[in-house]
Amino acid sequence: LIKWVNHIGVAVRSLQERVPLYRALGLEVAAGEEVPSEMVRVAFFSAGGTRIELLEPTAPDSPIAKFIAARGEGLHHICLEVDDIRATMAELAGQGFRLVSEEPKPGAHGSQVCFIHPKSAGGVLIELCQGGE
Ligand code: ZN
Repeated sequence: LIKWVNHIGVAVRSLQERVPLYRALGLEVAAGEEVPSEMVRVAFFSAGGTRIELLEPTAPDSPIAKFIAARGEGLHHICLEVDDIRATMAELAGQGFRLVSEEPKPGAHGSQVCFIHPKSAGGVLIELCQGGE
C-alpha cells in the first residue's frame, strides 16, 4: 500500500526566517503554496529521493500554530505516499488506527491527504497522500 516517504514535515514560525537555514544546508526550494484547508503556507525542498516541507501557520488557531505553541518549532509529521488513499484509510482504520478525518482532504499540489492520529501511531503524526504535483 505504501510507496515511499513523500516528505518530512517541519513546523516553523516563519518561512522567511527558516527557508534561508535550509538553503544554507544546500537544499533548493522546489515549490511553495498556501494550503487553506490546513491553514498553512508551505515550502518544499528537494532532498534526494524525498522532500522536506516547512509549514508556517496562517492563523493563530491552526493546528500548526497550536503545535508550535505547545512544543516549539521542529519535526511535525512524516508523509507516506500511497496508491489508493481511500483503500489505505479503510485498511488502517480496520486495524485500529485512528484517522483524523473520515474523508481525504485537499493537500499541497492537488494531492489528497489524510492524517493518522499520533496517539494511535506511537507518538508520530503520519500523513498519507495520494497524487498531486
Ligand atoms: Zn505534509
